[in-house]
Amino acid sequence: MKVTYYPVGDYQANCVILSDESGCAVVIDPGDEAPRLLQRLADQKLRVAVILLTHAHFDHLLAVRELQTATGAALYIHTEDASALSDTRRSLIPPHRLPYELTADRLLIDGDTVVVGELMLSVLHTPGHTPGSCCYQCDNVLISGDTLFAGSVGRTDLPGGRTAALLQSLRRLATLPPELRVIPGHGEATTIGYECRYNPFLAGV
Ligand SMILES: [Zn+2]
Repeated sequence: MKVTYYPVGDYQANCVILSDESGCAVVIDPGDEAPRLLQRLADQKLRVAVILLTHAHFDHLLAVRELQTATGAALYIHTEDASALSDTRRSLIPPHRLPYELTADRLLIDGDTVVVGELMLSVLHTPGHTPGSCCYQCDNVLISGDTLFAGSVGRTDLPGGRTAALLQSLRRLATLPPELRVIPGHGEATTIGYECRYNPFLAGV
């Protein structure tokens, strides 16, 4: 498996590309800058079969429409964030980018497995930042969205956010293998072990 990620858009959300040996790829959180993403995929000769969203906030999904048009890729999201794809009060799409509505092709729940080519991703439902926030684990990498950041965690004061749920989700992430590499929704990569030791939000759970 090959893993690349890079920040996109005004909020510098990490767009993650996972691909297998044959060039079959999953894009997680294509947040913006679709032309740059499409160029990157073409340069690496990758075929995108599936787009996964960690949650339905605009800064993680504003390149989905163009990516789907160009590739025909299917869109997957947790069932509890699916309705937010057509509810701008929850997706928080900026006015100058409206109208922008998406429809999911598959609704995920905790414990689901997403198979794309030789890639196998496990779905961990980690509510708190939004009701349908998810982390995706593939081999030794966890894509944590806005649930867990290096040294911090996602905010819970936006529509649908719940602090108690976030703490419960963090408690669960803290039980994952310490060596598991974490690519968060914003900022630098980290590991579960490092966060358990140094992230003040995990120390207390
Ligand atoms: Zn968010």
